[in-house]
Amino acid sequence: MTLSHLGLQKTTLLDYPGKVAAVLFTPGCNLRCPYCHNPDLVQKIDISTLVPMEEIRAF
Ligand code: SF4
Repeated sequence: MTLSHLGLQKTTLLDYPGKVAAVLFTPGCNLRCPYCHNPDLVQKIDISTLVPMEEIRAF
């Protein structure tokens, strides 16, 4: 099993204006933008929450 993503939001109406989209949240950003709205994905990676790649491919 390959683990590589911290989250899969299957439906978003906000992140791709005018389209229905999905969002994959990936770990490992090495920037520290003060306005980041997902600091837990950047600084506090909990590998127990990783989404299996198989689940993402199946979706
Ligand atoms: S906003 Fe957050 S995730 Fe995006 S580049 Fe900045 S620190 Fe990384």
